[in-house]
Amino acid sequence: MDRRKFLGITGTVSAGMLFDGMRFLQSNKVNTVLKGGKCFFQNQWQILDVGIDDSGKLIFAPANTLEGNSVFDIRGKIVSPGFIDILADNGTSPGSTFKIFEKYKVSDGVTTALQMHGGSPDCAAYYKRFSALPHYINFGVSTFVMQIRYNLHGIAERKKQVEKCLKEGALGVSHSIEYQPTPYEETVEYAKLAKKYNRPFFMHLRHSSEAKELEGVDEAIKIARESGANVHIDHLHSTGGTYKMAEALDKIKSARKEGLNITCCVYPYSFWATYLHSMRFAEGWQKRYNITYSDLQVVGTGEKLNAATFAKYRKVKKLVAVPEGTMSFSETIDLALKEDFCMIGSDGGIEFEKNANSHPRGAGCFATAINHCLSIGIPLEKALDKMTTLPRNLISPALQNRGILEDGAMADLTIFDEKTINGKATVSNPNQFSEGIEYVFVNGKLTFSKGQLIGTFGAPIKYQVI
Ligand SMILES: [Zn+2]
Repeated sequence: MDRRKFLGITGTVSAGMLFDGMRFLQSNKVNTVLKGGKCFFQNQWQILDVGIDDSGKLIFAPANTLEGNSVFDIRGKIVSPGFIDILADNGTSPGSTFKIFEKYKVSDGVTTALQMHGGSPDCAAYYKRFSALPHYINFGVSTFVMQIRYNLHGIAERKKQVEKCLKEGALGVSHSIEYQPTPYEETVEYAKLAKKYNRPFFMHLRHSSEAKELEGVDEAIKIARESGANVHIDHLHSTGGTYKMAEALDKIKSARKEGLNITCCVYPYSFWATYLHSMRFAEGWQKRYNITYSDLQVVGTGEKLNAATFAKYRKVKKLVAVPEGTMSFSETIDLALKEDFCMIGSDGGIEFEKNANSHPRGAGCFATAINHCLSIGIPLEKALDKMTTLPRNLISPALQNRGILEDGAMADLTIFDEKTINGKATVSNPNQFSEGIEYVFVNGKLTFSKGQLIGTFGAPIKYQVI
């Protein structure tokens, strides 16, 4: 019998004792109670009391049965597991920017930011350094193959370092073979290591041009087949499925039917942004993307480029955005979002205030995604799966106790208004909080309340190596 059924027959409950499926509580009083919120719990929408106990764990009970030291009236609002950003990006100088980065993440409902597109070339050092600092949200990293390849020259040395990271708790292995072209034979070796240590392999595919993008998808499938690893394709609509998304998805679907574990993610914006000095802007970019200088805008100011400013800003490594509509919603992102293997990943992070030179998705990705999914008829619970359950399953078992509403799970929670939720960050001004995010709890503690940052309760997320 689950506790809710038990509570339904209150005549048999003695002295306020509650049964929560796992534990007996000595009273119906808990640390914190959220009352009147709508929860997608046990496969249906319900209005429940959501309690948080002294250890930060969730307790669900019928409406008006729990008492708390703190009580939040959240009538009409949605209670979701906190959003998990698998493609959070704070790679440039995390030591000096992580607080700003996390501030904008939590204001967008994110309770766990994982840098799985990149990460660290020395994961033990990363965790040691960042675990000693205060965090608004939970954090974790993947093994950053691109940096390891840059640092070390022999394949054996590189593999040794990847393996070291995995032994020390890295959440996965990531590589970006468009930015750093790498022979197939070497790339698949990294995927095999991911498989050996039961971690996912995250890929930024090799091609983003119209002529070759599907070859990149084929390569990811081949890697999944040959290595046996769970292969996750980063931002499929910007790399792999920009021009032929339906075909890219068909390839992934048949690979999944074959039994291969392939997933992908998108961010809900119709334009990408990247650094002027990156491979994306190598000779011939105008033809590749069918755009010119004046189509490029400096993120943070909105300034449009010309040939002279292109050269000037390239030297100082500015990030620029391509025009809205470069990746059509209806022909790319929406097709991917309708697939149950497609998650939301921001591929972003805000690093400075004000005028951050960072794609607005770093501040508005998740609220925008919910708003957008609802606008194209994706049910709210399906939209939430893409930022909670699916990432939880992919980064398993490190996230086993998060990303889900169930008794005993860690209380990472995002409370929002489904009628008003939306991202507000723009190319001209990315430093804006999302609308509709009311409260965010991290590890059971109130972290964000109606636009205000409250405290730092984030924890490291690591693969527990036995
Ligand atoms: Zn990428």
